[in-house]
Amino acid sequence: MSQHEHVRVAVIGSGFGGLGAAVRLRREGVTDFVVLERADSVGGTWRDNSYPGCACDVPSHLYSFSFAPNPDWPRTFSGQQHIRAYLEHVADTFRLRSHIRLNHEVLMMRWDRDELRWEIETSRGTLTADVVVSATGPLSDPKIPEIPGLADFPGKVFHSARWDHDYDLRGKRVAMIGTGASAIQIVPAIQPEAAHVTLFQRTPPWVLPRMDRAISGPERWLHRQLPFTGAARRGLLWGIRELQVSAFTKRPNELGLIESIAKRNMSRSIKDPALRAKLTPSYRIGCKRILLSSEYYPALARPNVDVVASGLAEVRGSTVVAADGTETEADAIIFGTGFHVTDLPIAERVVGADGITLAEAWKDGMESLRGATAAGFPNWMTIIGPNTGLGNSSMILMIESQLNYLAGYMRQLNVLGERAALAVRPSAVGAWNRRVQERMERTVWKSGGCNSWYLDANGRNTTLWPGTTGEFRKATREVDLAEYEVVRMPVGTAKSAEAAETAEVVR
Ligand code: NAP
Repeated sequence: MSQHEHVRVAVIGSGFGGLGAAVRLRREGVTDFVVLERADSVGGTWRDNSYPGCACDVPSHLYSFSFAPNPDWPRTFSGQQHIRAYLEHVADTFRLRSHIRLNHEVLMMRWDRDELRWEIETSRGTLTADVVVSATGPLSDPKIPEIPGLADFPGKVFHSARWDHDYDLRGKRVAMIGTGASAIQIVPAIQPEAAHVTLFQRTPPWVLPRMDRAISGPERWLHRQLPFTGAARRGLLWGIRELQVSAFTKRPNELGLIESIAKRNMSRSIKDPALRAKLTPSYRIGCKRILLSSEYYPALARPNVDVVASGLAEVRGSTVVAADGTETEADAIIFGTGFHVTDLPIAERVVGADGITLAEAWKDGMESLRGATAAGFPNWMTIIGPNTGLGNSSMILMIESQLNYLAGYMRQLNVLGERAALAVRPSAVGAWNRRVQERMERTVWKSGGCNSWYLDANGRNTTLWPGTTGEFRKATREVDLAEYEVVRMPVGTAKSAEAAETAEVVR
């Protein structure tokens, strides 16, 4: 990269969001863009999470782009390797490789008020861009809790999203920390080879059976020959999930029925009443993410697995100590403790028009307009931004809605001409978030009696969308200019302090 190369758009990240943005930009006729990726390959969370047993708990025909259907998904819930291969395939099919800059970690980006553009410092040099699309995702930076004594643990320590495939678990005593979506896939996968697995469970999850099966040859043939059959399958999967939304967002009591299915899933495998009591949640199902597994409980019933119903509190040499005082000897500690979601590290690296970072702007909680644009950060947009997550359906649907919004944003900018930027009005952000938070009050995520990664440090749900994916699609169809200020530079102005003063805001 040459010093201060300039592009129309810089996309950050090459997971579903970043690759989707790249395809959409091309489709809109924008070819002057780069995709900056800190790792050495594309794939985002599906590249980073390679732990044993890793698979998606949303059916593949829904967990894929509508514009890049894959008739050859091997299973109803495909594994990480197939999803990663799908994303590589998307990068090839849409000829995105020439735009992608691997091993380019974004270190800092600053809004240049004089030039109305972003200055982006990467690990391989600096470039500028009129627009930044931040597609770094909420599940990209692993979180390991601060545990006294952990640094002196003599054995192996790693996070689920940074699996050490060179470490042989055979014959090892493993302390598995956490019982989220990652951990419940890891435990059944490592139990057969580990000498012993001790699972540190702070809060038991609700786990439903996972109806996974191979997609048969004839089914795949049908989807290849008659693509509308694949689309119909996707439509059905989508429709069922849309119908479930109101139970999560308006009538959590209706979810009680699903709790009985989860309890049956447990009692089928867990015969010991004491263990069953430990594993039974005391909050409404759906308050935390509902997990899907038909292997988790059978694995917990195996003689080489113990459940400690308490969080990890301390490490003393090779002894792992739970908050309730239980002590366990371990050779390895594996953290399935999730990600920095409401305290995104990338937010520390974005400096907006007022000279403050996005992290500072969001110190009381993440806020954006339509999950995309943030006040004080002109021409900066995020994919899977605040309140765009889902509790029960495919994030790809939300990403595609945001791609529509991105396309609308680029069209508006093109109409306004080159020396213009869009700055979202704080009043528009405020109004949007008031509506979102009002709707949040009735949701199971707020009233279900649990603590989850959906909530920030102030207890506000700044991560999930409290409606259907159809509603979000409608809300992101167009960019409403009334929600933005158009910031312009007079034509012919050179970069100077004077230019900054003469930059005008057109209302
Ligand atoms: P997570 O859902 O945030 O779970 C973290 C787990 O770590 C929780 O059980 C938490 O307990 C526990 N924990 C934290 N500190 C602890 C301590 N000191 N001692 C014991 N336990 C501790 O993280 P994740 O499992 O990686 O999943 C994150 C998200 O990624 C999921 O919700 C999902 O959206 C996505 N994901 C999806 C799939 C899939 O599609 N199948 C798979 C993996 C991940 P508490 O519950 O008490 O806080």
